Amino acid sequence: MFTKILIANRGEIACRVAATARRMAIRTVAVYSDADANAKHVAACDEAVHIGGSAPKDSYLRWERIIEAAKATGAQAVHPGYGFLSENEDFARACAEAGLVFIGPPASAIKAMGLKAESKQLMEKAGVPLVPGYHGSDQDAAMLKHEADRIGYPVLIKASAGGGGKGMRAVDKAQDFDAALASCKREAINSFGDDAVLIEKYVQRPRHIEIQVFGDTLGNYVYLFERDCSVQRRHQKVLEEAPAPGMTPEMRQQMGLAAVAAARAVHYVGAGTVEFIVEQRADGSMNFFFMEMNTRLQVEHPVTEAITGQDLVEWQLRVAAGEPLPLSQDQLKIDGHAIEARICAENPDNNFLPATGTLVVYRKPAGSSFAIGPVRVDDGVREGDAISPFYDSMVAKLIVHGQTREEALARLDTALAHMRIVGLATNVQFLRHVLTTRSFSQADLDTALIPREEAVLFKQEKIGLALAVAAAVAQTLLHEQAAEGADPFSRADGWRSHGVATRRFDFEFKGEALIAQLQYLHDGALVLSVGEVSGPLVFHVVKGGIDLRFAGQRETVQTWQKDETVHVFGARGATQIVELDALAHAGEVHAEGGRLTAPMPGKVVSFSVQAGDKVKAGQPLAVMEAMKMEHTIAAPADGTVAELLYAPGDQVAEGAELLKLSAG
Ligand code: ADP
Ligand code: ADP
Ligand code: MG
Repeated sequence: MFTKILIANRGEIACRVAATARRMAIRTVAVYSDADANAKHVAACDEAVHIGGSAPKDSYLRWERIIEAAKATGAQAVHPGYGFLSENEDFARACAEAGLVFIGPPASAIKAMGLKAESKQLMEKAGVPLVPGYHGSDQDAAMLKHEADRIGYPVLIKASAGGGGKGMRAVDKAQDFDAALASCKREAINSFGDDAVLIEKYVQRPRHIEIQVFGDTLGNYVYLFERDCSVQRRHQKVLEEAPAPGMTPEMRQQMGLAAVAAARAVHYVGAGTVEFIVEQRADGSMNFFFMEMNTRLQVEHPVTEAITGQDLVEWQLRVAAGEPLPLSQDQLKIDGHAIEARICAENPDNNFLPATGTLVVYRKPAGSSFAIGPVRVDDGVREGDAISPFYDSMVAKLIVHGQTREEALARLDTALAHMRIVGLATNVQFLRHVLTTRSFSQADLDTALIPREEAVLFKQEKIGLALAVAAAVAQTLLHEQAAEGADPFSRADGWRSHGVATRRFDFEFKGEALIAQLQYLHDGALVLSVGEVSGPLVFHVVKGGIDLRFAGQRETVQTWQKDETVHVFGARGATQIVELDALAHAGEVHAEGGRLTAPMPGKVVSFSVQAGDKVKAGQPLAVMEAMKMEHTIAAPADGTVAELLYAPGDQVAEGAELLKLSAG
């Protein structure tokens, strides 16, 4: 086995590979760009080499630099992850020439599967079923049109060199063919530098089912069953699961053997995925056709790990080191059901536009990471890290495993509900909506699921106005109590008459201004009025947030304030409300789990405590200066100061952790 490998990637997959390497006592070398100087993957490896600028072409795609780094650090092998250089035959060859083991298939197999048209010609010879279509080398426009007419509309024009859902055009009728062909070729030449296309019959309401295969250097092959990746947006995967609902043992075996035949035909070694498009017939039967082979580890590989109990990165390392496959086909069994959700920085309500920004709050459900478990979270970021415009928008992968699909689904919904991200738009709520659709919950899967369920997927607001306001008011009162140790109505903006104090809050919810009135009755009870709604407001701090009761609703919520926006998370969903006088409260603690963070960029003026001090809730800990004002940071709860993380005079970024407080 290798004693040291270089990981030629970043983000979650670099961390993923590092985790298995560490478990196998293999040392790891990270490579990183300027933007990733402090990235999690750098910390996850034993050593790290800077390879250039932030843009991929200046760093993660510079294979000469990466090979130099491997040689300089004494690495024996290179793991390419997915994306970047993972399917680059020149890189695989250059590794071999430099005496490094490329942890992946031989360059010849990458080449054979690299172009969709050529690979289909090969698959045809190997007897693997193909979608009816044209995948020849003649690219004459009139001839392609003729082929499309022969296949019958609708057809799909695909860039042969395409990937990542790019370079595809569906054509419904003959008149539209020429324009679609021209635009597909334009995109193909721009994105892939190659404008060759192929034409396929557009399968109606298809499913995407792929088979995980593995080969070793001794010529053995196995398949590790299927993954259903039908839930897609813009031809890209959103949720992946295994086993595929409705899969029969006969069809699984047929597909598995077809995938192994595909791998064998190109003398494949290592982890690979054979993607099939599956036609669902009216009588319930299914027809599968080869689409493409991805010659690398797939994003969704943890789904297969969950149902087989196998670590696929370990398999990759063993096979690359020349060992035989760890298990034979008859030793592989499916256990239960697994689902993966890709958590991305994007705005589903705005056509899934990718978002960038800082993970001001990033809290995950309890679970394992990079290891099989009922709830697993794989990521390459930490709280405070940025999702930059240079790399893809995936923040994390949430993988759940249960004995049945229902159990996995319930577990996924709960896990998503416990994912708290503040600072940028994500698809977390959207994913929860997908789970609740009739189509997904009843496993009526196909690639048109998202458009079909549009009405219940987009622009959903599960936590309404009343609860959002109540949560924002409650969090303000709690922060005030923590900061001042006083009752909220000793404040300047509250007033008292006949033993009833009233206080006004100005909010904005979904762009609408609204005023909330809070009354403090002489018995200490609170009454909140929000527009037409009025009633008692009852809340108290519980483990996991604030137990909130208002207007006939009860929910445990968690809140975070960033600038003027209060983020409210509850079991039903998440929402945001703007507190217009938030500046008046700036400097209050943003405290969760013993972290005390700067509410805004500024300078640390002083600390009034030192490490080891015992503090009481509300006790001042530090003074910050920002926006020409001083703000006192107070203890949110009784505790002990564990560590001061800055010194007086230091400039700190918004969200920077100022000191650590431990309980008791
Ligand atoms: P998978 O096929 O493993 O489910 P994706 O298709 O989303 O996953 O691709 C995995 C990674 O590879 C992503 O980071 C994606 O951006 C990248 N990727 C896929 N195909 C290409 C390509 N042709 N060119 C550049 N990057 C690609
Ligand atoms: P990429 O390299 O971008 O992953 P694929 O060939 O794997 O391209 O196709 C991506 C997705 O496009 C599939 O998962 C499926 O949703 C859709 N698709 C591909 N081929 C067809 C087809 N012939 N009919 C209908 N949908 C298709
Ligand atoms: Mg594909």
